[in-house]
Amino acid sequence: MNADLRRHGIGMTSARTRERLVQRLRDNGIRDQRVLDRIRETPRHLFIDEALASRAYEDTALPIGHGQTISQPYVVAKMTEALLAGGPLANVLEVGTGCGYQTAVLAPLVGRINTVERIDPLLVRARRLFRELSLRNVRAKHSDGSWGWPEYAPYDGIIVTAAPEEIPPALLEQLADGGRLVIPVGPSGRQELTLVERRGDVFEQSSLGLVSFVPLLGGTR
Ligand code: SAH
Repeated sequence: MNADLRRHGIGMTSARTRERLVQRLRDNGIRDQRVLDRIRETPRHLFIDEALASRAYEDTALPIGHGQTISQPYVVAKMTEALLAGGPLANVLEVGTGCGYQTAVLAPLVGRINTVERIDPLLVRARRLFRELSLRNVRAKHSDGSWGWPEYAPYDGIIVTAAPEEIPPALLEQLADGGRLVIPVGPSGRQELTLVERRGDVFEQSSLGLVSFVPLLGGTR
């Protein structure tokens, strides 16, 4: 299949199928038009196994191997919206690249994304897709994101797509003054999606509702 056709999709991955997903997210309260446009334009079927491609535009998480999942589109949209709600973001950190779908949705809406993933084969695949989709403002690294990515800190936005029991202190330290951190926090299978806004040394927390993410694990493999 040629590259254009591959990206735009056919049949169950076509424009009509994607539009239905966008309408569903709108019905469920996603308001930011930039986010809805990115959900429409991002070829989610390329981020999952071909055998599952017919389900790519359903609003569900799907397996991507290595015991990990691609996030539910609603949750990706909600987190992206929450991150962007404070104004333009020049420098973003993402922890938990996985297949790279969240990265791809967010990349054109911010200055630069630095993303880290602890499972190397996932990162290799994600990098290939970033190139294929011409996402030139993504920098990706194989490492344990509990430590953030100090080299490019501070970040005016941090998004974490795996859940720790408590927010890693390094992420709070690497958040710029006025910056926003969106992170699921809590025990496996039932976490509170949390927004942290930094004002000087004050970290204001608010809850964005319950979510279910894979755990944030230490070390790399
Ligand atoms: N963002 C992805 C979903 C990722 S699933 C999407 O758009 O679909 C969560 C990912 O976080 C998994 O790939 C997992 O390996 C990774 N992860 C878990 N703990 C991590 C850590 N400490 N550092 C970096 N990545 C981590």
